[in-house]
Amino acid sequence: MHNPGEDYAVEGSIVDRRGVRPGYIIVEGGAVVETGEGECPVRPDIHGMIVSDIVNGHTHCADYALKIPSGMSLEELVAPPNGLKHRYLQEASEEEIRKSMRSFSEYSASHGAERFVDFREGGVNGCRMLRQESEDAIVLGRPLSPEFDPEEVEELLDIADGIGVSSISDMDHGYIEELADAARDRGKVFAIHASERVREDIDFVLSLDPAFVVHMCEATDSDISKCAEAEVPIVFCPTSNAYFRKVPPIARAEALGADLALGTDNGMLCAPDMVAEAAVFAKVMERQGGPPSAAWNALTRLSGKLLNVHSGIQDTIGRGRLTVLETGPDGAPLPTTAGAVLRPRKRLKRL
Ligand SMILES: [Zn+2]
Repeated sequence: MHNPGEDYAVEGSIVDRRGVRPGYIIVEGGAVVETGEGECPVRPDIHGMIVSDIVNGHTHCADYALKIPSGMSLEELVAPPNGLKHRYLQEASEEEIRKSMRSFSEYSASHGAERFVDFREGGVNGCRMLRQESEDAIVLGRPLSPEFDPEEVEELLDIADGIGVSSISDMDHGYIEELADAARDRGKVFAIHASERVREDIDFVLSLDPAFVVHMCEATDSDISKCAEAEVPIVFCPTSNAYFRKVPPIARAEALGADLALGTDNGMLCAPDMVAEAAVFAKVMERQGGPPSAAWNALTRLSGKLLNVHSGIQDTIGRGRLTVLETGPDGAPLPTTAGAVLRPRKRLKRL
């Protein structure tokens, strides 16, 4: 792989919010000086995928420093309010949480993601901390009050980009509806975990008009079809799911026409490396008989599809983080093996 400061040309495929197509970049002194679609006008030095607009669709960054014992169930670990993670977040010092947010954000940026969509625990203060610690975070907060408190939610939405709640199994349905309405009234994002541990009522979930749903491990084909019809993207987190011995129905979702996106979920389980997550996604997809190449679109799906209804957010994506993944001279575009496609990477400036 080339070092920063070198001159070289890359030919292969451009992957961004507009899709996947043949293209090239020319790099001088470590900065991109020309980018284009089609054939490279000079002899390429590298064949590869040129990826930008990567958005990590689902994270929880504050638990990045938490070391977890092996063999815990989903409920023991992440269910609010008494799961290990929630006890940790209550007990950890503010400085420790802020440090986790900073190092998580730095890791995410250095691995190519433009933004990460964080389901932020800790109410108003939790949102404020993340806002202060990371420019890359799209902050989806949740209130602390056990009942709907309009003042708290207004204050939360003054700071956050929207609301991200745990699940319809963990909260009163009326409360969730009020949160979804409050987010919509302010033109902000509402999103929710769905059918991660047990199958949940997708009709109720979709009645909340979420910008996207996360997980859907226990969803049926009919549940997935309803998401596809409603054009509600599904964010899959296969590495996180694997920790709990769950496998998301990625190939079925692709076959049923759903919009697939990707997230790395809890920092304590998975570092925010979206290219590595895309490799896991592609492997699960292939094992399930689907097209691994769908991983490329999933990397940028949230930037191109999901967030375009929230134009204020979309305008902040595309600041030029670009990742070059070598594919070898045959230019094989499919991430069928992590070794071929997903090894070295390099961040460059886009023109
Ligand atoms: Zn989550």
